[in-house]
Amino acid sequence: MRRCCTFNQLKIAILISCAYYALALLGVYQTVSAQGIAIVWLANAVILSALLILPYRQWPLILMGTLLAEIAADIPTFPLWTAASFGFTNILEVTLAATLIRRVSGENFDFDKLRRGGYFLLFGPLIACALAGLIGATINIKLGNSVLDYSKFWLVWWFGDALGLILLTPMIVVVWRLLEKGIPKIPNKIIFEATLFSLTLIFIGIYAFSGKHEQLQFLISPLLLLSLGIYAAIRFGVLGATFTVTIVAMLAVYQLTREIYPYSTTSVQQAVWLTQEYLALISVVSVGLAILMREINNQRRALEEKEYALRMHNSTLESHVYDRTLLLEKANNALHEANIQLAHIASVDELTGIANRQHFRTEAQRELNRLKQDNQTASMILIDLDYFKRVNDTYGHGAGDFVLQSIAEPIRQSLRPKDLLGRMGGEEFFILLSETDLNSATNIAERIRLALESLVLNYDGNLIKITASMGVAELNKHENWSNLEDLDDLTRRADQALYRAKEHGRNCVETATE
Ligand code: GH3
Ligand code: MG
Ligand code: MG
Repeated sequence: MRRCCTFNQLKIAILISCAYYALALLGVYQTVSAQGIAIVWLANAVILSALLILPYRQWPLILMGTLLAEIAADIPTFPLWTAASFGFTNILEVTLAATLIRRVSGENFDFDKLRRGGYFLLFGPLIACALAGLIGATINIKLGNSVLDYSKFWLVWWFGDALGLILLTPMIVVVWRLLEKGIPKIPNKIIFEATLFSLTLIFIGIYAFSGKHEQLQFLISPLLLLSLGIYAAIRFGVLGATFTVTIVAMLAVYQLTREIYPYSTTSVQQAVWLTQEYLALISVVSVGLAILMREINNQRRALEEKEYALRMHNSTLESHVYDRTLLLEKANNALHEANIQLAHIASVDELTGIANRQHFRTEAQRELNRLKQDNQTASMILIDLDYFKRVNDTYGHGAGDFVLQSIAEPIRQSLRPKDLLGRMGGEEFFILLSETDLNSATNIAERIRLALESLVLNYDGNLIKITASMGVAELNKHENWSNLEDLDDLTRRADQALYRAKEHGRNCVETATE
């Protein structure tokens, strides 16, 4: 695995050295003006890009390859010592630039933020190239190679290197990063637009720098190409912008080396500086704009992603809340039903299904309160089954229960819906008859007595007959009554009547005398 990585690193170093060698040859033979001034030195951009992207441990191999490539490219023109000095100067330049840029702009360098583009411009073309220019000029003067004086040579070296870095570094870095990530699919519409754009660019570029058509110079001035650079930045991003300025630079330099100068300049040196300035300007503006747009787009995308994540989170939360609300509603309904059941259980006598003592008393009290307000009367009937103990003793407790269950319905049939029926306990029942006087209540009691007397209950083949004794009392309206005593008093008086009914031989109805 390790050997494989080392082999890969070697392959990359060789590839970069070859690219450097090719661009160095181009620099030495194709971009030199009539006076032997190099207009643009592109080779350093390859090394700087590699140093900006690759890990530090790969640097020595790449720098060694660079030195060899520089010597190989220079040897036919310069002596070995000079070639080696140039090589060292270039290595120093890119190493210094890459170290500073990486230090301040963080790892994973890319032309994705304007701040990073600014650091690149400051530490590369401005500081490192200026320093390299100083060293290069010193070597050149010491070796007596130059036709120019020290300061002019320094500026030429500086501007040539700076322009080379500005033109090519963003393109190489962006393409490299694109290859690392995988090239996205480009829509046909964009390919068509890019092709049309490239043709327009080349056409205008050739005319702009040809110098042949003086009457057209005004119309197709090199500054017109700036608008193409801006268009490329907006439509095709950093890659499009760097591609545009590289094409423009190639055309400008090509014409310059053929002694065709822009803006009717006659001095070679002035033409070179003008061209360098122009190319630096168009590059910085176009590529800078492209980087700014990329940064804005990245930020917008990040924001959109965050917004999407937030929206998803929100909807998850909402569905959680909805689920919980649903569960809560269900629990609430269940609780409500349980409460109703509980209230029912608490109010109903388990055996007979009619109101138990407590519930009857509560309801009876409420009814009495109402009647009191309306100045109405009411009566109570107390029922006690006769010799019920015998039923239990003769047929068993189950038969007794059966009898108690069986008499509830016949009693209720003798009553109106608003009358209250309850089980007092044992085999005793009470009835509250609203708006009913003693006479009517006695009639109703008699009706119930007859109904019970006529019942023949069949329990497991045993025919059981029962009778009941009853006491009836009417509410005394003229009494000065308070709530609870009132009900108790009515019950007490009905009970006394019942007692008398028992005394008089049972199976009869007695009324209260008080
Ligand atoms: P009386 O005519 O004097 O009322 O005679 P009785 O036998 O009905 O009177 P007593 O009060 O002495 O007896 C009531 C009996 O009712 C006693 C008990 O065994 C029976 N009893 C009370 N509650 C229940 C019940 O829920 N189920 C059954 N099977 N019997 C009950
Ligand atoms: Mg009894
Ligand atoms: Mg009894």
